[in-house]
Amino acid sequence: MKIAKTIRSVRKLVRQARSKGKSVGLVPTMGALHRGHISLIEKAAKDSDFVVVSIFVNPTQFGPKEDFKKYPRPVQDDLNACRKAGADLVFAPSAKQMYPRQNLAWVSVEKLSEPLCGRFRPDHFRGVATVCTKLFNIVQPDLAFFGQKDAQQTLLVKQMVADLNMPLKIVVCPTVREKTGLAMSSRNHYLTPQEKIDAACLYKSLRKARQMAGAGIIDAQKIIAQMRKIITAAASAKIEYIEIVDAKTLCPIKKIDRPALVALAVRIGRTRLIDNIIIDSQK
Ligand code: AMP
Repeated sequence: MKIAKTIRSVRKLVRQARSKGKSVGLVPTMGALHRGHISLIEKAAKDSDFVVVSIFVNPTQFGPKEDFKKYPRPVQDDLNACRKAGADLVFAPSAKQMYPRQNLAWVSVEKLSEPLCGRFRPDHFRGVATVCTKLFNIVQPDLAFFGQKDAQQTLLVKQMVADLNMPLKIVVCPTVREKTGLAMSSRNHYLTPQEKIDAACLYKSLRKARQMAGAGIIDAQKIIAQMRKIITAAASAKIEYIEIVDAKTLCPIKKIDRPALVALAVRIGRTRLIDNIIIDSQK
């Protein structure tokens, strides 16, 4: 496995792979890799001949009061994990390499960046869309792999790729969870043992939503009320939002009468966690 820190060297190594007729898969990450990331790299290794993993804690997607500085950066562990999962190249640029001057060109995806996390993290999705565009332009992959855990991000990136005619396909992979149901996240590192137990309430509430919809209760507010009960029972939990929206447009829906995204953001102590499921009542 090769490691590149500069855009120039990534381009060269990708060009070499391409000249051998290899297809290229990209897995964009911010590092602190866990089994969720690993599942993406393994899927990329199955679907493409040359797998590039980017590890970059992107400053432009963090708000001024967010955890950019303290975000975990276990470089050596991450490189070992990439090697084991089948990566051919890790791109780990510095912030200076990615943003050498004041950035004036931004990519933003209207509508899809506004609801859900967009209400609480202004500019977050502009940072995500911009860094993904930069990574796609640098690596020029055939496929790029994203996790369903960040549902809003996957919709936004897919829309961006379609609207701007970017020549790649976005592959969305299922959310990988701990035994307790807690979605794997680099931010789980911040949780104390008690908070980790409390954090299982997110998925517990999502399971309840699925169970209610399965039993024919399709009123979104009724479902949200039950989810709220489950989450507020955990001492360290504070709800940021719980919403049921159209799984494609992210517009709020009153009834689950079409594929619905049940999404939530909850603070466990000082750690902000997100999770979601899709309920498709047609199935
Ligand atoms: P991050 O490092 O948090 O920016 O995540 C990098 C990629 O890994 C994104 O596409 C995430 O959606 C994906 N990812 C994060 N957590 C999980 C998980 N638990 N299961 C599957 N994919 C995940």
